[in-house]
Amino acid sequence: MRTFPMFLTMSGRSVVIAGGGEQAAQKCRLMLKTEARIVVLADALDVELQSLADTGRIIWQRGAISPASFEHAALVFIATGCPGLDVCLHMLAKAAGVVVNVVDRPDLCDAITPSIIDRDPVVVAIGTEGTAPVLARQIKTRLEEMLEPRLGDLAALAGRLRGFAARRLGPRERRDLWAWVFNGPLRAQHNLEGDEPIATAIKAAITAGQIPQSGPAPVALVGAGPGSSDLITLRGVQRLQEADVIFYDRLVDPGVLELARRDAERIYVGKAPGCHSWPQDRINALIVSAALRGQRVVRLKCGDPGVFARGAEEAEALSAAGLTYEIVPGVTAASGAAAALGGFLTERGKTDTLVLTTGRKVDAHMPPDWVQHLSTRSHVAVYMGVQTAGQIVDVLSNAGLLDHVHVTAVANAQRADQKVLDCPARDLVARIAAKGLTSPAILFLRQIDTTNASTALRAGWPSRPSFGKPCKGQNL
Ligand code: SAH
Repeated sequence: MRTFPMFLTMSGRSVVIAGGGEQAAQKCRLMLKTEARIVVLADALDVELQSLADTGRIIWQRGAISPASFEHAALVFIATGCPGLDVCLHMLAKAAGVVVNVVDRPDLCDAITPSIIDRDPVVVAIGTEGTAPVLARQIKTRLEEMLEPRLGDLAALAGRLRGFAARRLGPRERRDLWAWVFNGPLRAQHNLEGDEPIATAIKAAITAGQIPQSGPAPVALVGAGPGSSDLITLRGVQRLQEADVIFYDRLVDPGVLELARRDAERIYVGKAPGCHSWPQDRINALIVSAALRGQRVVRLKCGDPGVFARGAEEAEALSAAGLTYEIVPGVTAASGAAAALGGFLTERGKTDTLVLTTGRKVDAHMPPDWVQHLSTRSHVAVYMGVQTAGQIVDVLSNAGLLDHVHVTAVANAQRADQKVLDCPARDLVARIAAKGLTSPAILFLRQIDTTNASTALRAGWPSRPSFGKPCKGQNL
Protein backbone atom coordinates (compact mmCIF):
# COMPACT_ATOMS: atom_id res chain seq x y z
CA MET A 1 0.00 0.00 0.00
CA ARG A 2 1.42 3.34 -1.03
CA THR A 3 -1.22 5.02 1.14
CA PHE A 4 -2.74 3.72 4.35
CA PRO A 5 -6.37 4.33 5.33
CA MET A 6 -6.96 5.75 8.83
CA PHE A 7 -9.97 7.45 10.42
CA LEU A 8 -8.84 10.81 11.78
CA THR A 9 -10.42 12.27 14.88
CA MET A 10 -11.97 15.54 13.76
CA SER A 11 -13.91 16.76 16.77
CA GLY A 12 -12.20 19.70 18.45
CA ARG A 13 -9.69 20.04 15.61
CA SER A 14 -9.27 22.47 12.74
CA VAL A 15 -9.23 21.99 9.01
CA VAL A 16 -7.76 24.79 6.93
CA ILE A 17 -8.95 25.24 3.35
CA ALA A 18 -7.06 27.71 1.17
CA GLY A 19 -9.24 29.11 -1.62
CA GLY A 20 -12.55 30.88 -2.01
CA GLY A 21 -14.03 29.36 -5.20
CA GLU A 22 -15.73 26.15 -6.29
CA GLN A 23 -12.78 23.84 -5.52
CA ALA A 24 -12.62 25.16 -1.97
CA ALA A 25 -16.41 24.87 -1.67
CA GLN A 26 -16.20 21.20 -2.63
CA LYS A 27 -13.71 20.54 0.15
CA CYS A 28 -15.89 22.52 2.54
CA ARG A 29 -18.92 20.37 1.74
CA LEU A 30 -16.88 17.29 2.54
CA MET A 31 -15.48 18.67 5.78
CA LEU A 32 -18.88 19.92 6.91
CA LYS A 33 -19.82 16.26 7.37
CA THR A 34 -17.24 16.16 10.18
CA GLU A 35 -17.11 17.85 13.57
CA ALA A 36 -14.00 19.85 12.63
CA ARG A 37 -13.73 23.63 12.89
CA ILE A 38 -13.31 24.84 9.30
CA VAL A 39 -11.11 27.82 8.51
CA VAL A 40 -11.15 29.19 4.97
CA LEU A 41 -8.23 31.35 3.82
CA ALA A 42 -9.23 33.59 0.90
CA ASP A 43 -9.49 37.22 -0.12
CA ALA A 44 -12.95 36.67 -1.58
CA LEU A 45 -15.59 33.95 -1.20
CA ASP A 46 -18.10 32.59 -3.69
CA VAL A 47 -21.76 32.80 -2.72
CA GLU A 48 -21.92 29.36 -1.17
CA LEU A 49 -18.87 29.90 1.04
CA GLN A 50 -20.06 33.40 1.88
CA SER A 51 -23.34 32.04 3.13
CA LEU A 52 -21.50 29.43 5.23
CA ALA A 53 -19.35 32.20 6.70
CA ASP A 54 -22.41 34.37 7.39
CA THR A 55 -24.09 31.53 9.28
CA GLY A 56 -20.93 30.80 11.28
CA ARG A 57 -20.42 27.33 9.84
CA ILE A 58 -16.96 28.25 8.59
CA ILE A 59 -14.43 30.81 9.76
CA TRP A 60 -13.23 33.14 7.02
CA GLN A 61 -9.72 34.57 7.28
CA ARG A 62 -8.52 37.26 4.86
CA GLY A 63 -5.10 38.74 4.37
CA ALA A 64 -1.53 37.47 4.22
CA ILE A 65 -0.98 33.73 4.43
CA SER A 66 2.08 32.37 6.23
CA PRO A 67 3.05 28.99 7.76
CA ALA A 68 1.33 30.20 10.94
CA SER A 69 -2.01 30.19 9.07
CA PHE A 70 -1.78 26.39 8.87
CA GLU A 71 -0.30 25.56 12.25
CA HIS A 72 -2.02 22.82 14.30
CA ALA A 73 -4.48 21.99 11.51
CA ALA A 74 -5.50 18.33 11.42
CA LEU A 75 -5.71 18.65 7.64
CA VAL A 76 -5.01 21.32 5.07
CA PHE A 77 -6.63 21.55 1.65
CA ILE A 78 -5.06 23.82 -0.96
CA ALA A 79 -7.82 24.54 -3.45
CA THR A 80 -7.44 28.02 -4.88
CA GLY A 81 -8.07 27.01 -8.50
CA CYS A 82 -4.77 28.65 -9.49
CA PRO A 83 -1.99 26.05 -10.00
CA GLY A 84 0.88 28.49 -9.30
CA LEU A 85 -0.68 29.81 -6.12
CA ASP A 86 -1.45 26.25 -4.99
CA VAL A 87 2.25 25.34 -5.22
CA CYS A 88 3.29 28.39 -3.17
CA LEU A 89 0.66 27.71 -0.51
CA HIS A 90 1.69 24.07 -0.40
CA MET A 91 5.21 25.18 0.52
CA LEU A 92 3.92 27.41 3.31
CA ALA A 93 1.72 24.63 4.69
CA LYS A 94 4.60 22.16 4.59
CA ALA A 95 6.70 24.65 6.51
CA ALA A 96 4.06 24.38 9.24
CA GLY A 97 4.55 20.58 9.24
CA VAL A 98 0.92 19.67 8.62
CA VAL A 99 -0.79 17.05 6.43
CA VAL A 100 -1.61 18.65 3.09
CA ASN A 101 -3.87 17.81 0.17
CA VAL A 102 -3.48 19.89 -2.98
CA VAL A 103 -6.34 19.63 -5.49
CA ASP A 104 -5.32 17.88 -8.72
CA ARG A 105 -1.69 17.51 -7.58
CA PRO A 106 -1.34 13.95 -6.26
CA ASP A 107 2.45 14.46 -6.31
CA LEU A 108 2.09 17.17 -3.66
CA CYS A 109 -0.42 15.32 -1.47
CA ASP A 110 0.40 13.78 1.91
CA ALA A 111 -3.15 12.45 2.00
CA ILE A 112 -5.81 11.84 -0.60
CA THR A 113 -9.54 11.90 0.03
CA PRO A 114 -11.25 8.59 -0.54
CA SER A 115 -14.59 7.96 -2.11
CA ILE A 116 -16.94 7.82 0.87
CA ILE A 117 -20.12 5.98 1.74
CA ASP A 118 -21.64 7.89 4.59
CA ARG A 119 -23.95 6.14 7.02
CA ASP A 120 -22.49 8.08 9.92
CA PRO A 121 -21.20 6.62 12.25
CA VAL A 122 -20.72 3.81 9.71
CA VAL A 123 -18.33 5.19 7.13
CA VAL A 124 -16.76 3.27 4.28
CA ALA A 125 -13.76 4.81 2.53
CA ILE A 126 -12.70 3.49 -0.87
CA GLY A 127 -9.38 4.28 -2.46
CA THR A 128 -7.55 3.05 -5.52
CA GLU A 129 -4.50 5.28 -5.06
CA GLY A 130 -5.63 7.18 -8.11
CA THR A 131 -5.31 4.14 -10.38
CA ALA A 132 -8.96 3.49 -11.17
CA PRO A 133 -11.52 6.16 -10.28
CA VAL A 134 -14.16 4.38 -12.39
CA LEU A 135 -13.68 1.23 -10.36
CA ALA A 136 -13.92 3.20 -7.12
CA ARG A 137 -17.25 4.61 -8.29
CA GLN A 138 -18.50 1.15 -9.21
CA ILE A 139 -17.56 -0.22 -5.78
CA LYS A 140 -19.24 2.76 -4.16
CA THR A 141 -22.47 2.14 -6.08
CA ARG A 142 -22.55 -1.50 -5.03
CA LEU A 143 -21.88 -0.69 -1.39
CA GLU A 144 -24.50 2.06 -1.43
CA GLU A 145 -26.99 -0.61 -2.48
CA MET A 146 -25.84 -3.03 0.20
CA LEU A 147 -25.91 -0.62 3.11
CA GLU A 148 -29.45 0.46 3.79
CA PRO A 149 -30.07 4.18 4.41
CA ARG A 150 -30.78 3.81 8.15
CA LEU A 151 -27.85 1.53 8.92
CA GLY A 152 -25.95 4.38 10.57
CA ASP A 153 -28.86 5.01 12.95
CA LEU A 154 -28.89 1.34 13.90
CA ALA A 155 -25.13 1.40 14.54
CA ALA A 156 -25.53 4.56 16.62
CA LEU A 157 -28.32 2.90 18.62
CA ALA A 158 -26.06 -0.11 19.21
CA GLY A 159 -23.35 2.28 20.36
CA ARG A 160 -25.71 3.85 22.90
CA LEU A 161 -26.73 0.44 24.27
CA ARG A 162 -23.21 -0.98 24.42
CA GLY A 163 -22.59 0.01 28.03
CA PHE A 164 -25.97 -1.35 29.13
CA ALA A 165 -25.20 -4.67 27.40
CA ALA A 166 -21.65 -4.79 28.80
CA ARG A 167 -22.93 -4.49 32.37
CA ARG A 168 -25.37 -7.39 31.97
CA LEU A 169 -23.95 -9.81 29.43
CA GLY A 170 -20.71 -11.74 29.03
CA PRO A 171 -18.57 -11.33 25.87
CA ARG A 172 -20.10 -14.37 24.16
CA GLU A 173 -23.68 -13.23 24.81
CA ARG A 174 -22.78 -9.76 23.61
CA ARG A 175 -21.50 -11.17 20.35
CA ASP A 176 -24.72 -13.18 19.99
CA LEU A 177 -26.72 -10.06 20.79
CA TRP A 178 -25.10 -7.95 18.10
CA ALA A 179 -25.19 -10.81 15.60
CA TRP A 180 -28.92 -11.05 16.27
CA VAL A 181 -29.32 -7.30 15.84
CA PHE A 182 -27.26 -6.93 12.68
CA ASN A 183 -27.78 -10.29 10.95
CA GLY A 184 -31.36 -11.02 11.84
CA PRO A 185 -34.76 -9.58 10.96
CA LEU A 186 -34.31 -6.66 13.40
CA ARG A 187 -32.08 -4.90 10.93
CA ALA A 188 -34.69 -4.95 8.17
CA GLN A 189 -37.36 -3.93 10.68
CA HIS A 190 -35.22 -0.99 11.80
CA ASN A 191 -34.89 0.19 8.23
CA LEU A 192 -38.67 0.32 7.98
CA GLU A 193 -39.67 1.44 11.46
CA GLY A 194 -36.70 3.33 12.89
CA ASP A 195 -35.13 3.28 16.35
CA GLU A 196 -37.98 2.98 18.79
CA PRO A 197 -39.33 -0.59 18.41
CA ILE A 198 -35.83 -1.92 17.88
CA ALA A 199 -34.43 -0.20 20.97
CA THR A 200 -37.29 -1.72 22.98
CA ALA A 201 -36.60 -5.21 21.62
CA ILE A 202 -32.85 -4.97 22.27
CA LYS A 203 -33.28 -3.65 25.79
CA ALA A 204 -35.81 -6.41 26.57
CA ALA A 205 -33.40 -9.10 25.30
CA ILE A 206 -30.53 -7.65 27.36
CA THR A 207 -32.64 -7.32 30.50
CA ALA A 208 -33.96 -10.87 30.17
CA GLY A 209 -30.44 -12.10 29.33
CA GLN A 210 -32.10 -14.05 26.53
CA ILE A 211 -30.59 -13.58 23.14
CA PRO A 212 -32.66 -15.49 20.58
CA GLN A 213 -30.20 -18.36 20.09
CA SER A 214 -30.31 -21.66 21.89
CA GLY A 215 -27.62 -24.29 22.36
CA PRO A 216 -24.36 -24.33 20.42
CA ALA A 217 -24.60 -22.63 17.06
CA PRO A 218 -24.69 -25.03 14.11
CA VAL A 219 -21.25 -25.86 12.74
CA ALA A 220 -21.05 -24.26 9.32
CA LEU A 221 -19.62 -26.42 6.56
CA VAL A 222 -18.68 -23.63 4.20
CA GLY A 223 -17.64 -23.82 0.57
CA ALA A 224 -14.80 -21.43 -0.16
CA GLY A 225 -15.05 -21.76 -3.94
CA PRO A 226 -12.34 -22.99 -6.27
CA GLY A 227 -9.83 -20.20 -6.25
CA SER A 228 -10.02 -16.47 -5.99
CA SER A 229 -11.51 -15.14 -2.78
CA ASP A 230 -14.41 -13.37 -4.53
CA LEU A 231 -15.94 -16.71 -5.46
CA ILE A 232 -17.19 -17.43 -1.94
CA THR A 233 -20.87 -16.67 -1.26
CA LEU A 234 -22.04 -13.75 0.87
CA ARG A 235 -23.45 -16.26 3.35
CA GLY A 236 -20.05 -17.94 3.51
CA VAL A 237 -18.41 -14.61 4.32
CA GLN A 238 -20.99 -13.98 7.01
CA ARG A 239 -20.27 -17.35 8.65
CA LEU A 240 -16.54 -16.61 8.50
CA GLN A 241 -17.09 -13.33 10.27
CA GLU A 242 -19.10 -15.01 13.01
CA ALA A 243 -16.60 -17.82 13.54
CA ASP A 244 -14.40 -18.20 16.61
CA VAL A 245 -12.44 -20.98 14.95
CA ILE A 246 -11.98 -21.99 11.33
CA PHE A 247 -10.70 -25.39 10.26
CA TYR A 248 -9.52 -25.06 6.69
CA ASP A 249 -8.23 -27.24 3.88
CA ARG A 250 -5.09 -27.16 1.81
CA LEU A 251 -6.78 -25.80 -1.31
CA VAL A 252 -8.54 -22.91 0.40
CA ASP A 253 -7.31 -19.62 -1.01
CA PRO A 254 -5.49 -17.52 1.66
CA GLY A 255 -7.56 -14.52 0.55
CA VAL A 256 -10.69 -16.29 1.80
CA LEU A 257 -9.23 -16.63 5.29
CA GLU A 258 -8.66 -12.90 5.34
CA LEU A 259 -12.42 -12.45 5.21
CA ALA A 260 -12.69 -13.88 8.72
CA ARG A 261 -12.57 -11.87 11.95
CA ARG A 262 -9.06 -10.90 12.85
CA ASP A 263 -9.20 -12.66 16.21
CA ALA A 264 -10.67 -15.91 14.85
CA GLU A 265 -8.44 -18.94 15.30
CA ARG A 266 -7.42 -20.51 11.98
CA ILE A 267 -6.47 -24.17 12.09
CA TYR A 268 -5.02 -25.94 9.07
CA VAL A 269 -6.29 -29.48 8.64
CA GLY A 270 -5.23 -30.02 5.04
CA LYS A 271 -4.36 -33.25 3.37
CA ALA A 272 -1.79 -33.34 0.61
CA PRO A 273 -2.85 -35.70 -2.19
CA GLY A 274 -2.07 -39.25 -1.19
CA CYS A 275 -0.59 -38.41 2.22
CA HIS A 276 -3.19 -38.21 4.94
CA SER A 277 -1.36 -35.92 7.32
CA TRP A 278 -4.65 -35.11 9.08
CA PRO A 279 -6.72 -38.30 9.38
CA GLN A 280 -10.41 -37.66 8.85
CA ASP A 281 -11.43 -38.97 12.27
CA ARG A 282 -9.01 -36.57 13.93
CA ILE A 283 -10.53 -33.67 11.98
CA ASN A 284 -14.00 -34.84 13.00
CA ALA A 285 -12.97 -35.01 16.65
CA LEU A 286 -11.44 -31.53 16.56
CA ILE A 287 -14.53 -29.95 15.04
CA VAL A 288 -16.84 -31.70 17.46
CA SER A 289 -14.85 -30.72 20.52
CA ALA A 290 -14.56 -27.07 19.44
CA ALA A 291 -18.34 -26.91 18.92
CA LEU A 292 -18.99 -28.62 22.27
CA ARG A 293 -16.76 -26.04 23.96
CA GLY A 294 -19.24 -23.47 22.69
CA GLN A 295 -17.03 -22.04 19.95
CA ARG A 296 -18.60 -21.01 16.69
CA VAL A 297 -17.02 -23.32 14.19
CA VAL A 298 -16.57 -22.99 10.47
CA ARG A 299 -15.29 -25.95 8.53
CA LEU A 300 -13.98 -24.29 5.41
CA LYS A 301 -13.54 -26.44 2.34
CA CYS A 302 -12.46 -25.59 -1.14
CA GLY A 303 -15.17 -25.60 -3.78
CA ASP A 304 -18.47 -26.94 -2.50
CA PRO A 305 -18.61 -28.78 0.83
CA GLY A 306 -20.94 -31.34 -0.72
CA VAL A 307 -18.64 -32.36 -3.56
CA PHE A 308 -15.74 -34.72 -2.80
CA ALA A 309 -15.15 -32.97 0.48
CA ARG A 310 -15.94 -35.70 3.04
CA GLY A 311 -18.60 -33.38 4.36
CA ALA A 312 -20.95 -36.29 5.06
CA GLU A 313 -18.46 -37.89 7.45
CA GLU A 314 -18.06 -34.65 9.38
CA ALA A 315 -21.81 -34.08 9.46
CA GLU A 316 -22.30 -37.59 10.80
CA ALA A 317 -19.74 -37.02 13.57
CA LEU A 318 -21.47 -33.78 14.52
CA SER A 319 -24.90 -35.40 14.62
CA ALA A 320 -23.53 -38.28 16.70
CA ALA A 321 -22.33 -35.70 19.24
CA GLY A 322 -25.78 -34.09 19.33
CA LEU A 323 -24.61 -31.07 17.36
CA THR A 324 -26.27 -29.46 14.39
CA TYR A 325 -24.68 -28.30 11.18
CA GLU A 326 -25.42 -26.03 8.29
CA ILE A 327 -24.13 -26.47 4.75
CA VAL A 328 -23.17 -23.26 2.99
CA PRO A 329 -22.70 -24.17 -0.67
CA GLY A 330 -19.77 -23.02 -2.72
CA VAL A 331 -18.73 -22.91 -6.35
CA THR A 332 -17.44 -26.36 -7.14
CA ALA A 333 -14.21 -26.73 -9.12
CA ALA A 334 -16.03 -28.04 -12.21
CA SER A 335 -18.12 -24.86 -12.34
CA GLY A 336 -15.05 -22.73 -11.76
CA ALA A 337 -13.12 -24.56 -14.47
CA ALA A 338 -15.93 -24.42 -17.04
CA ALA A 339 -16.44 -20.73 -16.39
CA ALA A 340 -12.74 -20.07 -16.75
CA LEU A 341 -12.86 -21.78 -20.13
CA GLY A 342 -15.80 -19.65 -21.17
CA GLY A 343 -17.83 -22.84 -21.56
CA PHE A 344 -21.02 -24.25 -20.12
CA LEU A 345 -21.40 -27.44 -18.14
CA THR A 346 -24.68 -28.17 -19.84
CA GLU A 347 -26.06 -26.69 -23.00
CA ARG A 348 -29.55 -27.11 -24.34
CA GLY A 349 -29.57 -29.58 -27.20
CA LYS A 350 -25.81 -30.28 -26.98
CA THR A 351 -24.88 -31.38 -23.48
CA ASP A 352 -27.72 -32.69 -21.37
CA THR A 353 -25.79 -34.77 -18.86
CA LEU A 354 -23.17 -33.67 -16.41
CA VAL A 355 -21.29 -36.18 -14.29
CA LEU A 356 -19.07 -35.19 -11.39
CA THR A 357 -16.77 -38.04 -10.53
CA THR A 358 -13.42 -38.78 -8.96
CA GLY A 359 -10.23 -40.36 -10.19
CA ARG A 360 -9.69 -41.72 -6.68
CA LYS A 361 -11.91 -44.67 -5.92
CA VAL A 362 -12.32 -46.10 -2.43
CA ASP A 363 -12.73 -49.58 -3.90
CA ALA A 364 -10.06 -49.82 -6.59
CA HIS A 365 -11.39 -53.16 -7.85
CA MET A 366 -14.73 -51.85 -9.01
CA PRO A 367 -14.80 -50.37 -12.52
CA PRO A 368 -15.68 -46.68 -12.26
CA ASP A 369 -19.29 -45.79 -13.03
CA TRP A 370 -18.42 -42.77 -15.12
CA VAL A 371 -17.52 -44.86 -18.19
CA GLN A 372 -21.16 -45.68 -18.79
CA HIS A 373 -22.01 -41.97 -18.79
CA LEU A 374 -19.52 -41.02 -21.48
CA SER A 375 -21.29 -39.83 -24.58
CA THR A 376 -21.22 -37.13 -27.19
CA ARG A 377 -23.85 -35.28 -25.16
CA SER A 378 -22.33 -35.46 -21.69
CA HIS A 379 -19.52 -33.87 -19.78
CA VAL A 380 -17.74 -36.09 -17.31
CA ALA A 381 -15.79 -33.92 -14.89
CA VAL A 382 -13.12 -35.93 -13.10
CA TYR A 383 -11.85 -34.55 -9.79
CA MET A 384 -8.50 -35.70 -8.40
CA GLY A 385 -7.65 -37.13 -11.79
CA VAL A 386 -4.10 -35.94 -12.41
CA GLN A 387 -2.29 -38.62 -10.38
CA THR A 388 -4.71 -41.24 -11.66
CA ALA A 389 -4.59 -40.19 -15.32
CA GLY A 390 -2.90 -43.50 -16.19
CA GLN A 391 -5.79 -45.45 -14.64
CA ILE A 392 -8.33 -43.29 -16.46
CA VAL A 393 -6.60 -44.09 -19.75
CA ASP A 394 -6.59 -47.82 -18.86
CA VAL A 395 -10.29 -47.75 -18.10
CA LEU A 396 -11.00 -46.06 -21.43
CA SER A 397 -8.79 -48.54 -23.22
CA ASN A 398 -10.53 -51.55 -21.60
CA ALA A 399 -13.88 -50.09 -22.61
CA GLY A 400 -12.68 -49.68 -26.21
CA LEU A 401 -13.10 -45.92 -25.96
CA LEU A 402 -9.51 -44.69 -25.97
CA ASP A 403 -9.71 -43.21 -29.45
CA HIS A 404 -13.16 -41.79 -28.90
CA VAL A 405 -12.64 -39.48 -25.95
CA HIS A 406 -11.26 -35.99 -25.74
CA VAL A 407 -9.92 -34.44 -22.53
CA THR A 408 -9.76 -30.82 -21.46
CA ALA A 409 -7.90 -30.38 -18.19
CA VAL A 410 -7.97 -27.20 -16.15
CA ALA A 411 -5.45 -26.93 -13.33
CA ASN A 412 -5.72 -24.24 -10.67
CA ALA A 413 -8.95 -22.98 -12.18
CA GLN A 414 -9.80 -19.39 -11.22
CA ARG A 415 -6.33 -18.80 -9.83
CA ALA A 416 -3.52 -16.72 -11.23
CA ASP A 417 -1.56 -19.85 -12.16
CA GLN A 418 -4.42 -21.50 -14.06
CA LYS A 419 -3.32 -23.91 -16.82
CA VAL A 420 -5.38 -25.55 -19.55
CA LEU A 421 -4.51 -28.70 -21.48
CA ASP A 422 -6.55 -30.02 -24.37
CA CYS A 423 -5.78 -33.40 -25.95
CA PRO A 424 -7.09 -36.77 -27.12
CA ALA A 425 -7.39 -39.22 -24.20
CA ARG A 426 -4.69 -41.42 -25.76
CA ASP A 427 -2.11 -38.64 -25.23
CA LEU A 428 -3.26 -37.64 -21.76
CA VAL A 429 -0.46 -39.11 -19.62
CA ALA A 430 2.29 -37.94 -21.94
CA ARG A 431 0.84 -34.44 -22.23
CA ILE A 432 0.41 -34.09 -18.48
CA ALA A 433 4.04 -35.12 -17.96
CA ALA A 434 5.39 -33.00 -20.82
CA LYS A 435 3.55 -29.88 -19.72
CA GLY A 436 4.06 -30.37 -16.00
CA LEU A 437 0.35 -30.14 -15.24
CA THR A 438 -0.20 -30.77 -11.56
CA SER A 439 -3.06 -31.11 -9.10
CA PRO A 440 -5.53 -29.56 -8.41
CA ALA A 441 -7.12 -30.05 -11.79
CA ILE A 442 -10.45 -30.99 -13.31
CA LEU A 443 -10.40 -33.29 -16.30
CA PHE A 444 -13.40 -32.87 -18.57
CA LEU A 445 -13.98 -36.04 -20.60
CA ARG A 446 -16.22 -36.07 -23.64
CA GLN A 447 -16.85 -38.67 -26.26
CA ILE A 448 -16.04 -37.53 -29.77
CA ASP A 449 -18.86 -37.67 -32.27
CA THR A 450 -17.14 -39.68 -35.01
CA THR A 451 -20.21 -39.59 -37.21
CA ASN A 452 -19.70 -35.88 -37.58
CA ALA A 453 -16.20 -35.00 -38.72
CA SER A 454 -16.46 -31.31 -37.88
CA THR A 455 -17.59 -32.06 -34.30
CA ALA A 456 -14.76 -34.52 -33.93
CA LEU A 457 -12.27 -31.87 -34.96
CA ARG A 458 -13.44 -29.46 -32.35
CA ALA A 459 -14.28 -31.91 -29.63
CA GLY A 460 -12.29 -29.99 -27.06
CA TRP A 461 -13.81 -27.55 -24.64
CA PRO A 462 -15.39 -25.14 -25.31
CA SER A 463 -17.38 -26.80 -28.05
CA ARG A 464 -18.43 -23.36 -29.27
CA PRO A 465 -15.79 -21.92 -31.57
CA SER A 466 -16.93 -18.36 -31.07
CA PHE A 467 -16.15 -18.11 -27.35
CA GLY A 468 -13.43 -15.57 -27.75
CA LYS A 469 -10.75 -15.60 -25.09
CA PRO A 470 -12.32 -15.31 -21.67
CA CYS A 471 -9.93 -17.92 -20.35
CA LYS A 472 -7.01 -16.54 -18.39
CA GLY A 473 -3.88 -18.50 -17.61
CA GLN A 474 -1.68 -20.57 -19.78
CA ASN A 475 -2.93 -22.82 -22.57
CA LEU A 476 -0.76 -25.88 -22.87
N1 SAH B 1 -15.01 -29.70 -2.71
C1 SAH B 1 -14.19 -29.43 -3.86
C2 SAH B 1 -13.46 -30.66 -4.34
C3 SAH B 1 -12.38 -31.11 -3.39
S1 SAH B 1 -11.52 -32.53 -3.93
C4 SAH B 1 -15.06 -28.81 -4.96
O1 SAH B 1 -16.26 -28.79 -4.86
O2 SAH B 1 -14.47 -28.30 -5.92
C5 SAH B 1 -10.05 -31.81 -4.55
C6 SAH B 1 -10.10 -31.76 -6.04
O3 SAH B 1 -10.92 -30.70 -6.46
C7 SAH B 1 -8.78 -31.50 -6.69
O4 SAH B 1 -7.96 -32.66 -6.79
C8 SAH B 1 -9.22 -31.04 -8.05
O5 SAH B 1 -9.64 -32.10 -8.85
C9 SAH B 1 -10.45 -30.21 -7.69
N2 SAH B 1 -10.11 -28.78 -7.53
C10 SAH B 1 -10.19 -28.05 -6.42
N3 SAH B 1 -9.84 -26.78 -6.67
C11 SAH B 1 -9.54 -26.72 -7.99
C12 SAH B 1 -9.12 -25.71 -8.86
N4 SAH B 1 -8.95 -24.45 -8.45
N5 SAH B 1 -8.91 -26.01 -10.16
C13 SAH B 1 -9.10 -27.25 -10.62
N6 SAH B 1 -9.50 -28.26 -9.83
C14 SAH B 1 -9.71 -28.00 -8.54
